[in-house]
Amino acid sequence: MTQLLTPGDGPGPPTGAEAAGSPLQTVAPGDVFAALDTSPRGLGAADAVTRRDRYGPNELPRAGRRGVWRQLAAQFTDLFAIVLLVASAITFLAYVLQQPPDAGTFRLAVAILAVVVLNASIGFAQEYSAERTAQSLQAMVPHTCRVLRDGERREVPARELVPGDVVVLEAGDAVSADCRLVEAHEVSVNNAALTGESDAVGRTGDAEAAGPLLEARNCVFMGTDVVAGTAKAVVFATGPATEFGRIFRLASAAPGQKTPLQLQVASMARRVAGVALAIGAALFAVRVPTGQPFVETFVFALGVMVALVPEGLPATLSVSLAIGVRRMARRHALVKKLLAVEALGSTTVVCTDKTGTLTQAEMTVTQVWAGGASHPVSGVGYAPVGEVTDPLAVRELLRAAALCSNARLVPPLAADQSGSRAGHRSWRVLGDTTEGALLVAAEKAGIDPAAEEDAAPRVAENPFDSVRKMMSTVHRSRDSGTYHAYVKGAPQELLARCTGIDWKGERRALTDELRAEVVAANDELASQGLRVLAAAWRPVSGSDVTQDEAESGLTLLGLLGMLDPPRPEVSAAVDACRQAGIRIVMVTGDHPLTAEAVARRVDIVRQAAPTVVTGASLDSMDDDALDGLLAGPAELLLCRVSPEHKMRVVTAFQRRGEVVAVTGDGANDAPALKHADIGVAMGASGTDVAREAAVMVLLDDSFASIATAVRLGRSVYQNIRKFLIYLFSHNIAELVPILAATFVGFPLVPITAVQILAIDLGSDVLPALALGAEPPEPDVMDRPPRSRRERLFSAGVMGRILFLGGIQALGVCVVFFWHIHAAGIPYSRFTEDDAVYREAITMVQAGIVVSQFFNALAVRTERQSVFRIGLLSNPWLLAAGCFGLGLMAAISYLPALQAVFHTAPLAAADWAVLAGFGALLLAAEETRKWWLRSHRPGARKGAGR
Ligand code: ADP
Ligand code: MG
Repeated sequence: MTQLLTPGDGPGPPTGAEAAGSPLQTVAPGDVFAALDTSPRGLGAADAVTRRDRYGPNELPRAGRRGVWRQLAAQFTDLFAIVLLVASAITFLAYVLQQPPDAGTFRLAVAILAVVVLNASIGFAQEYSAERTAQSLQAMVPHTCRVLRDGERREVPARELVPGDVVVLEAGDAVSADCRLVEAHEVSVNNAALTGESDAVGRTGDAEAAGPLLEARNCVFMGTDVVAGTAKAVVFATGPATEFGRIFRLASAAPGQKTPLQLQVASMARRVAGVALAIGAALFAVRVPTGQPFVETFVFALGVMVALVPEGLPATLSVSLAIGVRRMARRHALVKKLLAVEALGSTTVVCTDKTGTLTQAEMTVTQVWAGGASHPVSGVGYAPVGEVTDPLAVRELLRAAALCSNARLVPPLAADQSGSRAGHRSWRVLGDTTEGALLVAAEKAGIDPAAEEDAAPRVAENPFDSVRKMMSTVHRSRDSGTYHAYVKGAPQELLARCTGIDWKGERRALTDELRAEVVAANDELASQGLRVLAAAWRPVSGSDVTQDEAESGLTLLGLLGMLDPPRPEVSAAVDACRQAGIRIVMVTGDHPLTAEAVARRVDIVRQAAPTVVTGASLDSMDDDALDGLLAGPAELLLCRVSPEHKMRVVTAFQRRGEVVAVTGDGANDAPALKHADIGVAMGASGTDVAREAAVMVLLDDSFASIATAVRLGRSVYQNIRKFLIYLFSHNIAELVPILAATFVGFPLVPITAVQILAIDLGSDVLPALALGAEPPEPDVMDRPPRSRRERLFSAGVMGRILFLGGIQALGVCVVFFWHIHAAGIPYSRFTEDDAVYREAITMVQAGIVVSQFFNALAVRTERQSVFRIGLLSNPWLLAAGCFGLGLMAAISYLPALQAVFHTAPLAAADWAVLAGFGALLLAAEETRKWWLRSHRPGARKGAGR
């Protein structure tokens, strides 16, 4: 399914790239605003609305969806449909050639056609809804951008962007429209989506010579990503008017690709079809020499073959995968590829972030350390209410931290004031929550960050990255005209770049003793589970100092310890994962002591001494040593690591055959997210780039949602096995009586092909779909992950098919031959219109339908008693089963259907006998499950046994 993006018809927006006669890239940065009819304060709210009406939403049209008719037609041209259509045609031909013509042959031909039509409808409905699901999931992946409107920084959905909007870009952002840069700090972008060039290219805000727009180094384009730096830019084209909208065809994200599971089922279905063909041929070969009419026998063999073809299987499989996807979405886990549903079920290791995933990312600075003394800070959350015990002693420290932050505090807002977003009742942070906490602390100490910024405006910035673990800004003081660099970051990194320390207002050289004192203070804060940041400063010569210069020879101002409470739901999820045999490895950029304290609080660490490994020691390990480490003790914390380390750890786990899920939020987490079996990105925080690279997006960022997704993933796999067992076992019950009759020399068939088709249509499809929608079994997280090498049709599954199918077949044979024998006439005297024979075949058909009713209940659990999950807990399954029974009753009692199926009315006693056999089947299953529970309690790969 390719979606063709064509430039919008209609009077699309002007490209804007030609501003006021001269190409936009040649305009000086200061003149860009005027050229695009906007201002450095951004658009006004009213103007934005007008422009939105004029230029339309910033979206690409979803053209080229495959026509409904073509989708429907495709259903009739897949392999099974063609086989069945050919079979139907041959049967028609046989009917025409027959002398005298037999109405039964005609009915069979029609029945086969009915199977094709029904299957095509189900397949079509399924594909259609899968496409809709994929689209709506896509729309749920959050995609916002930061713009200036009326001089205020706002977050708006990307589709609301209009030409003239001033956007603020940061590393990790996806560029949502074509923009001209007016300010750029160390910006580089990845234009791969546009040019195929995957190396990052630098960007500037300065004017350039005229040339092709796509090569202008002061423009960024929709569909590309910012990989480093920060920038301010003005939108000049949106939606279809962008370069991306103009040039590109976008492959749709619809589920085109088949997952390994789907491939396994498809290959199994083909193999069964082959077997069906062989059985049909064998029956034909055996029956013709016994003197049966040639055409009749041929038609019968064909009918049996058709009946055994598992034509509905692939569709049922896709439906249950889609149900899994929808259930996960409801539990805040958006799965972008069906493949992930499958992989989730076999996850063995989860490498998880700390901040935001295990914790709430609701940061509050609670301790400040400066000049050898600790100062508690009161108040919680982002409301700037609270006090610092000694504000003067920490003033410089908090001022530096505030100046070196990009976040903004947003006061409580009523719904009607807040523009595009719903109102919120508490203080919020726009941007990084760590920085938000610093601003709050500064305000509590009586510092007004905006006034400080006015007094010393920022002239340059070296953005935070998780390798350097710090960021710096350069400011020019309005009073003195001097320049200062302010730096904040991880204490270890910062301390290494300090030569002095601010000690109660005076600069002292950072001696070894003082250094040790800082380290001790840091450890003290970290061991309380606080996230610790250090801040420092230095005078510099001007705005053009290099990053290295701005971040060395620093004077340390102090330490800031912030509390990030763990998410309340996480410890239960951690325990569930532990119970399920899934290993959790914390991977964090933070300090080992902080990491360990948090890990203890959420129950990831229980031992007295977990293995704590830092990024630096990972660097000194070769692959063998790393493998040894991962093979070692279960509780592992990786601290002070960078995204490259994450990638290396993921690869090492995979080398060991583990199925790895890994979380990531930054742009440079993308390689690890792509490489892992399940890359997990954050919907609330985190970057667009990470969301693009991941196969799963957590809307609430919580680790608990990963655990839920794993549980649902496991249950999808189990459900698929349930309906496979359900479907294939009844095939045995259909086949065995036919073979038995053939071999004991009974001249007629115990069940006709038309009857078999009625069973397939009437009492198979719906229960199978309902089984695919079973809720997770209660013990689904009590077993170890299934082995990645385990095949869907394991020995256990095959065993259950034979066990259940065998019992059904036995029951059906017994009722049939018991009926025939009771009549007391020799086999050869039976004719098709014999009342006893008609009753007997009705018994066979009803026997299969009734036993399938009980079978559907039996396959609902693998090891548990079905009574424990409740017989009524899947109402759809009961409804589907009752529909099958009702249809069977109609076939038995309605004269019109009796004529079609050659059936006879059954007596109440007959039904009772059949129900007895059904109950026997359930009892046999319960006994087997009981035996399994008491003799093989924790059996590995318990699934399907
Ligand atoms: P985490 O695993 O906690 O998300 P990160 O990789 O985000 O770790 O951060 C690593 C370290 O970098 C943190 O422990 C902190 O000291 C520092 N840090 C985090 N955010 C910022 C920021 N905005 N500015 C400066 N330093 C930061
Ligand atoms: Mg982080």
